[in-house]
Amino acid sequence: MCDRMAVMYAGKIVEQGSVRNLFDAPKHPYTRALLGSIAKLGSKEPLFAIPGQPPDLANLPSGCAFHPRCPDVMPRCAKEQPEETRFGPDWTARCWRAATPAAKEAYDRASA
Ligand code: SF4
Repeated sequence: MCDRMAVMYAGKIVEQGSVRNLFDAPKHPYTRALLGSIAKLGSKEPLFAIPGQPPDLANLPSGCAFHPRCPDVMPRCAKEQPEETRFGPDWTARCWRAATPAAKEAYDRASA
């Protein structure tokens, strides 16, 4: 039982916030992928699997460590590590795609 959660990938927190925020409107593609891989009781659907393999922690990919597996990858992702973007008082994510003005505006509209 918890109120807050943090999602880690390759040894870094990539998203953190309230359980409600992360379950209802996850910002990071890895958070969304994890939520999509939760088994549903009684379902015969195959579980979602993130393509590719976890990275070698001694030889991480350049830029965002998730970029070789990310469905939302952009050219910038392979070059620069994403900065932390704040989506609410206690909600942050490290993702260039989530940090776009459109994504932030959607958050602002939803929380207004
Ligand atoms: S920064 Fe880019 S590669 Fe990393 S999670 Fe966001 S969209 Fe995907």
